[in-house]
Amino acid sequence: MGRYLGSSCKQCRREGIKLMLKGIRCESAKCPIEKRERNTAPGQHGWRRGKNSDYGVRLREKQKVKRFYGLFEKQFMKTYGMAERIKGNTGENLLVLLERRLDNVVYKLNFAPSRKSARLLVSHGHVYLNGRKCDIPSVLVKVGDKLVLKNADKSSKKVKEQLESNPNFSVQSWLQLDSSKPEAMVVAMPSRDDVQLPIEENLVVEYCSK
Ligand code: SF4
Repeated sequence: MGRYLGSSCKQCRREGIKLMLKGIRCESAKCPIEKRERNTAPGQHGWRRGKNSDYGVRLREKQKVKRFYGLFEKQFMKTYGMAERIKGNTGENLLVLLERRLDNVVYKLNFAPSRKSARLLVSHGHVYLNGRKCDIPSVLVKVGDKLVLKNADKSSKKVKEQLESNPNFSVQSWLQLDSSKPEAMVVAMPSRDDVQLPIEENLVVEYCSK
């Protein structure tokens, strides 16, 4: 299982939007996207960002989705293949599948400040799914699944601190959170409206189905 080890901010600068990959830092003035002089594509000639071709627009949209969810091409295309085999709109199916990933659910529950940290929390074995340790971030949750944290002081303490740092946070309606323990349950399947990311999924489908 691979993960991107390069600069997260570089990915945002490439896409020209805030991908929110660094948690609290992304909200601060230190974010390069907030600074006009750094809001250019990475590289020596980044400031020369030209007009994208039709192909380029679709490619960037696909890259954006991959980067929001922290996936490599192979994992992404595997999920796309699954989305194609499900009845209905392939673009929406793709986003719903990505939304159901365990690392994304941990992030959406505010157990971690970013999807990247959520992925670490899962892969380091701090999350139990239906009573069993689950250290695979790509596992898809389903209705009725119960998430609890490993009964270890260190992980629960960090998650509790994260939950307390954002008291106004409200969990999405497809999830149910008991922040006192903390534990959570999946009460419904997410819909396209729950994704809340600036993605035009039809462009992603046009790119992938070529
Ligand atoms: Fe992206 Fe966050 Fe870096 Fe800003 S601080 S460029 S949003 S990763």
